[in-house]
Amino acid sequence: MTDGSLHLYTALTVPPEWSESIDTTDPAAAKAAVLAHFADGNPSLRVLVADADGLLVPRAIHALPAGHRWDRVPGVTLLGDAPHLMSLFAGEGADLAMLDGAEPGRALAAHPGDTEAALTAYEQALFPRSQAAAAMSAANLQTRFRADAPQGLLDQFVARHQAA
Ligand SMILES: Cc1cc2nc3c(=O)[nH]c(=O)nc-3n(C[C@H](O)[C@H](O)[C@H](O)COP(=O)(O)OP(=O)(O)OC[C@H]3O[C@@H](n4cnc5c(N)ncnc54)[C@H](O)[C@@H]3O)c2cc1C
Repeated sequence: MTDGSLHLYTALTVPPEWSESIDTTDPAAAKAAVLAHFADGNPSLRVLVADADGLLVPRAIHALPAGHRWDRVPGVTLLGDAPHLMSLFAGEGADLAMLDGAEPGRALAAHPGDTEAALTAYEQALFPRSQAAAAMSAANLQTRFRADAPQGLLDQFVARHQAA
């Protein structure tokens, strides 16, 4: 981070009540609760949690369904995570948000005096673009949390290396 600190994320498949059951004001107890999920984990990775200085901040991963869309509502549209919130496993949310921010301007310039035509054109491109990334994100989410994880990720690395 810009202050020189290092933030570590670790992800778990747990019921929503799990994070509510953790006393995040008690760093030792919170770390123990996380590390319990990595009892057989490599010590060099476990220590990243065990020796962390900061407080644990539980955050749920939310996602809209891939292919989420809506009928035109005159005078308004959505961009960024609002229309296509997805898990972080596509690594494209910020890229899409910036593209979404630029595309309405391009559409308005291409349809002078016709805001509705511009927003319709923007949404017609937005929906398939978002669906593709959201589908990849949803598939990657499944892969990352498969029972044999991280095998699925390793398989992806090998497949992409062989395709290159
Ligand atoms: C852990 C993690 C890792 C990620 N890694 C990547 C990555 O590697 N690559 C990538 O491309 N994307 C990544 N993303 C996704 C990316 O961060 C988001 O897709 C992107 O930030 C969405 O931008 P946004 O402007 O739509 O929304 P946000 O960045 O969420 O911005 C919305 C803003 O609105 C503000 N706000 C909310 N409500 C109100 C209100 N009522 N009034 C005023 N302001 C309000 C919020 O405080 C926030 O600042 C990651 C996300 C997470 C959580």
